[in-house]
Amino acid sequence: MQCPKCPGTLESKTYGRKITIHRCSECAGLWCKPEILLLMKKEWMSEAVLDSGDPRVGQEYNKVDEINCPECGVRMDKASDERQTHIWYETCPEGHGMFFDAGEFTDLKYDTFMDRLRDIVRGRRPDE
Ligand SMILES: [Zn+2]
Ligand SMILES: [Zn+2]
Repeated sequence: MQCPKCPGTLESKTYGRKITIHRCSECAGLWCKPEILLLMKKEWMSEAVLDSGDPRVGQEYNKVDEINCPECGVRMDKASDERQTHIWYETCPEGHGMFFDAGEFTDLKYDTFMDRLRDIVRGRRPDE
């Protein structure tokens, strides 16, 4: 698949048995399905293996936000994370996937992990 942000190619990457995403050979942006993103958030160290791009490069590509879905060609919607509103990513309105610039998934996951620690400190059960 062609990267929606740069001339690179989206290459298939796997982590463990269940996680398969695509990573751009040039800008290291990540293309993943919404359900895979949930698995990636739970998987210890998945960000170190999958989100291996340079966050400084990701910041540059974050400015490119008028992109089309690499699977269906429809203009993608911009979305920001509900907890971390500084993280902007693109999402296909048809549900094919989401595009994260290099470093964004690590940022997203780190916050999720810290939130869970705070929850434990407050004494909340993790599944509440
Ligand atoms: Zn790219
Ligand atoms: Zn699509």
